[in-house]
Amino acid sequence: MTTSTIADSISTSPAAASAEPEHDARSLPSGGLQNVDLHCHSLASDGALSPSALVERAVEKGVTHLALTDHDTTAGLDEARAAAARLGLVLINGIELSCIWRSQTIHVVGLDFDDDQPAWRSALARQEDNRWQRARLIDHKLSHLRVEALLDKAIAKADGDVPGRPHFASVLVEEGVIGNSAQAFKRHLGAGKPGDVKACWPELAEVVQWICDAGGVAVVAHPRKYKMTATKLRSLMKDFQSAGGQGMEVLTSGQSSGDLGFLTELCRREGYLASRGSDFHFPGAPWCELGRLPALPDGLEPVWQGFSAFQPGT
Ligand code: AMP
Ligand code: FE
Ligand code: FE
Ligand code: ZN
Repeated sequence: MTTSTIADSISTSPAAASAEPEHDARSLPSGGLQNVDLHCHSLASDGALSPSALVERAVEKGVTHLALTDHDTTAGLDEARAAAARLGLVLINGIELSCIWRSQTIHVVGLDFDDDQPAWRSALARQEDNRWQRARLIDHKLSHLRVEALLDKAIAKADGDVPGRPHFASVLVEEGVIGNSAQAFKRHLGAGKPGDVKACWPELAEVVQWICDAGGVAVVAHPRKYKMTATKLRSLMKDFQSAGGQGMEVLTSGQSSGDLGFLTELCRREGYLASRGSDFHFPGAPWCELGRLPALPDGLEPVWQGFSAFQPGT
């Protein structure tokens, strides 16, 4: 997809943007500043930049350690790794897996796993099949909108790969069905709407197991985005922990200070590992930029401390 179409397909206004973000200003042994961003997207899923352009931008923005976490795919990692090696950025293996918990779609970020393990590769192949099956169902569910060859057009938006909801949204805008992508989600693709097809996703515990078995760490992505009550979110985190999940994103873009306070407290009290990730998709949204989040609140254990790239001598 081109930058403009992707930007259009995802653009929303900042929910409750936090105060002017700062860099994660911790010192590196080299004397520089460490800036860790463990959640972002490339053209391999619904981001606007190629993996190498994304890494270049991350370096420009002062990111020192980056995890590329495309939706249900690691297809962008090789290109990102090559760019990272060229530019002196540390790339951590990442993915954002779609799953189901109590009939709701949840995103679980996997970090620092072995991307070559056979069981992991076959799990990802199954997840790709799930995404294709879902794309066909979305096409079917939106047939009343009478867009000719909707699925083919969405596939074209995804450059021949499996299309996600943002790609469908982009086609609906282009075909004049709806004014913009935020409205496309509100009316046709967002939570509870016909195009929000969840039937294909595996259970939360299953995807956590995939990540753990591949030697990685599982992290609940953007916990406040699910619009759950505090009680329900605590239940989610308990089930996640029982399944082997260890981390939660405490810092994500567009989060209110109230949400940050709540997540910090939950993370500290229950002893989860804390993550920091922008969820960057495209340039031009200042509330969601690579590496542009505050430092982790004091007293939290950074999820990245256990990663091989952070061990002394590496
Ligand atoms: P999918 O993996 O195909 O279900 O698409 C999920 C992606 O759709 C998210 O990562 C966002 O990039 C985008 N998205 C989800 N909800 C919205 C929304 N309400 N408005 C705009 N984009 C959205
Ligand atoms: Fe996305
Ligand atoms: Fe997500
Ligand atoms: Zn994401």
